[in-house]
Amino acid sequence: MKTIIEPFRIKSVEPIYFNTKEDRLHILEKAFYNPFLIHANDVLVDLLTDSGTSAMSSSQWAGIMQGDESYAGSPSFSNFEKAVKEITGFPIVIPTHQGRAAEKILFSLLGGKGKYFISNTLFDTTRANIEFSGAEGIDLLCEEGKHPATPAPFKGNINIEALKKTINEKGAENIPMVIITVTNNSGGGQPVSMQNIKEVSSVCRKNKIPFFIDACRFAENCYFIKLREKGFASKSVPEIANELFSYADGCTMSAKKDAFANIGGFLAMHNQQLAQQCRNLLIITEGFTTYGGLAGRDLEAIAIGLKEVMEEQYLQYRIRSIEYLTEKLSAAGVPVMQPAGGHAVYIDAKEFLPHIPVEQYPGQALVCALYAEGGVRSVEIGSLMFGKYDADRKLIPAQMELVRLAIPRRVYTQSHIDYVAEVIIDVFKKRNELKGLMITEEAPVLRHFTAQLNPVK
Ligand SMILES: *Cc1c(COP(=O)(O)O)cnc(C)c1O
Repeated sequence: MKTIIEPFRIKSVEPIYFNTKEDRLHILEKAFYNPFLIHANDVLVDLLTDSGTSAMSSSQWAGIMQGDESYAGSPSFSNFEKAVKEITGFPIVIPTHQGRAAEKILFSLLGGKGKYFISNTLFDTTRANIEFSGAEGIDLLCEEGKHPATPAPFKGNINIEALKKTINEKGAENIPMVIITVTNNSGGGQPVSMQNIKEVSSVCRKNKIPFFIDACRFAENCYFIKLREKGFASKSVPEIANELFSYADGCTMSAKKDAFANIGGFLAMHNQQLAQQCRNLLIITEGFTTYGGLAGRDLEAIAIGLKEVMEEQYLQYRIRSIEYLTEKLSAAGVPVMQPAGGHAVYIDAKEFLPHIPVEQYPGQALVCALYAEGGVRSVEIGSLMFGKYDADRKLIPAQMELVRLAIPRRVYTQSHIDYVAEVIIDVFKKRNELKGLMITEEAPVLRHFTAQLNPVK
């Protein structure tokens, strides 16, 4: 087989500003060993997130110029609505400025004290919006999903037995919704099978519980179904997407992921009555029902992006590029999550740096080392992000200490990815020299964004 090439040419470029290791050591110190506090121009390859960082196509930029900015009834809204309807089959489409705005509207209406929302894994903003309403979120990820080193085809699946058991325990009347995240972002970008979606749907119908899909990476998930699930090899991605959404009652979406847009999102559903309530809230917080916090040009770019993301040449390149980096690292002995997910490569920092105790944040130590070595920015998903304290202020660590390298869509070429692999492997060779970190300043919630740290002496 020949090399899978990037299915695009480059028409417009952005410079990368080079600096030296000496510069970066100084920058890290000034940023208190927290790469969220580093200026983006000081980063050579930015793998902090795949959200809102996609490169738009020439068609999308052309669409931006054609965006219609009418307050009500914009033709750009019609294009947006049509694109979403064609993919999801949901008759009602409500635009929002981001995914979390769709979540905020939905959970303000359905949440509240004594309610439980069940998921494979809730994304952090989803969980935050559920908890903010007074309700509780429950993650019931399948067993395979909990072991990073063990490969399985659909590690994003929900545990169906646990779902049935939890519904019995909590009472169907106290569960306003089951939400399946495709692909499972917080669980390593791992896909959910069509079979699993079908079973969730059947359990929900039996118990009269609405079933929604968190659809941020629907196209990546559908492509994994095509590659890995029996009976889907000859189906097109739009056909698979149609089937996937047909089992659900609605979805939330961040267009900053699988729509190649820099901003945007939506809510889509069947239920007219719920939609009316959502629109009433939308008008208070986001805007009128035909723009919902977005400019007409954004709606146009999303409508075009939603179609482009389902092209198989693109998805083949996308999934292959994540797998390529995973394979390179794995071959050099670097402990990475297996198999490769849809949007990011995850390094197991506990295995990478066994000499650094979790109280000294091995994931953050690795994030800093990757920046210092090659200007690669990544993010810790471990005890700095999710750790809590007990009554004696002793750290209750997270389940895993991971470092995520999220790959922006259509932004970096194979040589950038080769460079990233070289940087990681260089750090791996001198891993014994790496030191842990301690926190010197932190916020009470979501501390990883602003925490200040210092190397342990
Ligand atoms: C990004 C994301 C969201 C939230 O979307 P925003 O546009 O960032 O508000 C929700 N769910 C998942 C799975 C996500 O990845």
